[in-house]
Amino acid sequence: MKKILVVDDEESIRFLYKEELEEEGYLVECAKNGQEALEKLTVFKPDLVSLDIKMPVMDGIEALKRIREKERHLPVILCSAYGEYKQDLTTWASDAYVVKCADLTNFKSIIRKLLDLS
Ligand SMILES: [Mg+2]
Repeated sequence: MKKILVVDDEESIRFLYKEELEEEGYLVECAKNGQEALEKLTVFKPDLVSLDIKMPVMDGIEALKRIREKERHLPVILCSAYGEYKQDLTTWASDAYVVKCADLTNFKSIIRKLLDLS
């Protein structure tokens, strides 16, 4: 069973993503900021990380840099609400960039591709 770490400071998003991804058959763990994500990375050992950008304590851009130092090949999807980071150079280090929306169809198909399950 593939494991996904969902990182977002909003509880409702964590809840929605966890529920939808578990329905798809993934094992899901959540973290509420970048710091917590890095801690869970070593314990949970996810196959893919979904990473929110705007978060307190440690944001997604900083978390992405640190994840890359530890796990160079771990697929990371950056998520943000408005698409404001789409042109930002630092987001290039992620494997995909998704603008958050209630319909997770696109998000799920990107996950399947990155995990090579499509
Ligand atoms: Mg956020």
